[in-house]
Amino acid sequence: MKLYNTLTRKIENFEPQDAERVKVYTCGPTVYSFAHIGNFTCYVYWDLLVRTLKQQGYNVDRILNITDVGHLTSDADDGEDKMEKGAKREGKTVWEVAEMYMNDFLKNFRALNMVEPSKICRATDYVKEDMALVDALDKKGFLYDTTDGLYYDTSKFPTYADFAHLDLEHLKAGARVEFSSEKRNVSDFAVWKWIRDGEDHAMKWEYRGRMGYPGWHIECATIIHEELGEPIDIHCGGIDHIPIHHTNEIAQLEGAYGKQMSKFWLHNNFITIEGQKISKSLGNVYMFDDLAERGYTHMDYKMWVLQGHFQSERNFSFEDLAAAKQRLLNYRNFAALRWQKDATDLSETKTAMMAQLENNLNSAGALAELDKVMSKNVPDEKFVQFLDEIFGLGITESTPDISKELKAKIAERVDAKKAKDFAKADQLRDEIAREGITLLDSADGTIWQYA
Ligand code: AMP
Ligand code: ZN
Repeated sequence: MKLYNTLTRKIENFEPQDAERVKVYTCGPTVYSFAHIGNFTCYVYWDLLVRTLKQQGYNVDRILNITDVGHLTSDADDGEDKMEKGAKREGKTVWEVAEMYMNDFLKNFRALNMVEPSKICRATDYVKEDMALVDALDKKGFLYDTTDGLYYDTSKFPTYADFAHLDLEHLKAGARVEFSSEKRNVSDFAVWKWIRDGEDHAMKWEYRGRMGYPGWHIECATIIHEELGEPIDIHCGGIDHIPIHHTNEIAQLEGAYGKQMSKFWLHNNFITIEGQKISKSLGNVYMFDDLAERGYTHMDYKMWVLQGHFQSERNFSFEDLAAAKQRLLNYRNFAALRWQKDATDLSETKTAMMAQLENNLNSAGALAELDKVMSKNVPDEKFVQFLDEIFGLGITESTPDISKELKAKIAERVDAKKAKDFAKADQLRDEIAREGITLLDSADGTIWQYA
């Protein structure tokens, strides 16, 4: 398979280190508010990645983390803690807030019919292990203490700027005055935050005899080290994570333990809504409930995402969502055909679709291959199962075979037509339509479809 690797800025041939265990890590959500539809695009792309690898015969060990601690509103270690902000807004404890939004996230994740990760890891379950990573970094001389926390001296990690192609000199010149003059370099970041005298923090742990909490970039490094072991095969996240979050993950894990973090890095681009950035002030922060109110399901949305590419900036519109909904309905009707006529062997189409997906996850290309054969062929069970496995759109689950009574009625109508009793044929067609089934007459006979 070919994948665009952010590490090398090239499309490269992907081979896992061990086919029995392809190690995949995807940065997860910060659970301090409801996730909007933009937040979910990446999980659809990564689900396609997992499904493609599985289809190729690999065993995929995929970890998803849940950030339920210590993520500040700014990547730069200042600003409010996102969890505390959510708790204040809701009049709840940070733990209750985390629980509620995590459950809501997982509900949507599962409604999108994603392959269940091998493990979902909460950051708060790895704080002891974070401390071990901080100790390892300290031992190697990467850290310095400040009143705000233990900071990583990025000048001691010579390749710090490489991953994101950062221009540190330029950064320095453009830097605003940070929280404290104690910071040695503008790119230095907190691996552990102290709770200062007179301050409090809802989530806190004792470390080195003081109370504090982990910096937000450390959990992914820790969880990868504990659960998968570096180097992993593929690390995924949003493009916004390249310059700070992922750069800092690498500096911590590779600095502490000396091994490469990941062989491949995949980054998804952002979506805009009706041409605008997603923002509260524009009133376009759509959740799945908002889509449901307009008659769209999670699967309609997933269909829309799969029509595009993870590296492309995409524009979402309800017009396009309506088109995606129709396309999905066409696939369901196509899948339902497998009960009624002689099926065509579509294994060549399957091969062509896989070739598209193995070309840097070109799902739009794979769907185009499917469209080429759809109107002229009847799929067999095997092909339809493949479609469900590769896209996870649930096209078979939602199209149960029709009842024997309905089938008998369809046969009765065919006979009526043959006997030129068109009044009876039309009456039967109306009765069948009331059951939600449309009939299509063609030279080859009559085909039924879900309306
Ligand atoms: P936030 O909680 O706002 O930091 O968002 C969490 C992650 O969701 C971000 O780090 C992005 O990778 C992703 N994300 C946010 N907005 C969008 C968007 N409009 N399109 C795609 N991904 C997004
Ligand atoms: Zn991460």
